[in-house]
Amino acid sequence: ASLARIQQVDPKVRAFLRVDEAGALAAARASDARRAAGSPAGVLDGVPLGLKDLFLTEGVETTAGSRLLEGFVPPYDATVVRLLKEAGLPLVGKLNLDEFAMGSSNESSAYFSCHNPWDLSRTPGGSSGGSAAAVAAREVPGALGTDTGGSIRQPAALTNTVGLKPTYGRVSRYGVIAFASSLDQPGPMTRTVADAAALLQVIARPDVQDATSSDAPVPDYSADLEAGVRGLKLGVPREYFTEGMDPEVEASIREALREYERLGATLVDVSLPHTKYALATYYLIAPAEASSNLARYDGVRFGKRAQDARSLRDVYTLTREEGFGSEVKRRIMLGTYALSSGYYDAYYLRAQKVRTLIREDFTRAFQQVDALLSPTSPVPAFKLGEKVEDPMAMYLMDIYTLPCNLAGLPGLSVPCGFTKAGLPVGLQILGRPFDEAGLLRIARAYE
Ligand code: GLN
Repeated sequence: ASLARIQQVDPKVRAFLRVDEAGALAAARASDARRAAGSPAGVLDGVPLGLKDLFLTEGVETTAGSRLLEGFVPPYDATVVRLLKEAGLPLVGKLNLDEFAMGSSNESSAYFSCHNPWDLSRTPGGSSGGSAAAVAAREVPGALGTDTGGSIRQPAALTNTVGLKPTYGRVSRYGVIAFASSLDQPGPMTRTVADAAALLQVIARPDVQDATSSDAPVPDYSADLEAGVRGLKLGVPREYFTEGMDPEVEASIREALREYERLGATLVDVSLPHTKYALATYYLIAPAEASSNLARYDGVRFGKRAQDARSLRDVYTLTREEGFGSEVKRRIMLGTYALSSGYYDAYYLRAQKVRTLIREDFTRAFQQVDALLSPTSPVPAFKLGEKVEDPMAMYLMDIYTLPCNLAGLPGLSVPCGFTKAGLPVGLQILGRPFDEAGLLRIARAYE
């Protein structure tokens, strides 16, 4: 059914970069056999899933949305891919994304832009835009995305789906193509909160292959889903309700806040005073780490190599010149500049210090409240082409999602109504480290 639906709608949506029909059908048949024998591998055995094309898949081309990795076939699976296979989920294909996950609209994909199923002239958001669109268009019931500065939550918000960025370290990054290693985190994108809980259950696991993986115990994420919010204190951060927010987005969020009060939660006004530095801090740290991570794409080890290189230096420069798109080049230049010896103290080191202040803002807030509520994105889905020429306008799309990554916290986006034009709005819920269960429960109460 999933493959048929993809055939039917994906020529318009363009969520998939590649469909692994043979692999998916073989896995589905194996699942049928297990079920017939009465021994399914788990509750999700047989449920088809899509993967952002940032996850390494053994024997299946993986490009990160870049020309540079065109034709690259990984020799091994990412840890989360292995876990999904062991749990019996047929993996139907690789989903479109901004090149190396850098972007908020899916338009920096080197292949083609993905379209928002709610309005095909608009972006599904990014960078996990293909994952969000595939779930919203009912091509797959769930997908994995990654979130470095909002790339799971923002596309979820723009497509009326649920997206969960787990606590940094909760889900293994092994075999996930790196963008900014201190911020990257994989997570589930689904239609419902219960589905997100079930999918997180499969992928949240300590992993010796990832040095930053946490060995904190993994709770049962579905156990408290229906517990409601009565008695909870939910913080409303003042700094997340400022100018730049679309009035219809604000109205939907305010209505959600009232609903939480009706459900028995207490709303608490809180302040996260360093929020105003989050954008600048992120756009120093993320490009700095990216410039280092992307140094490995030298034309020797992975993917494509420039054909007419005459010297080793030519191999490096021509391969990178031809292989990387303009947004990736912009990030590499920003990052190498911020890390260069003359500017290191002024930019990178300063950004790390501000990052600590941002994290401390959250620590203080969570002494008063159980979770924080805000919009996920300041605006609903924008038109394809509308912001491509203006990187600063694009970076501003991440204003409410970035601080969570800088602080390493879990964050979730849950559908929160529609604008008059029929565009989805998402509510963001941020929580204490490793309180994914709390976020899911709060989201479920409103869903
Ligand atoms: N839009 C942000 C960026 O371009 C976040 C991307 C992400 O989370 N991968 O860096």
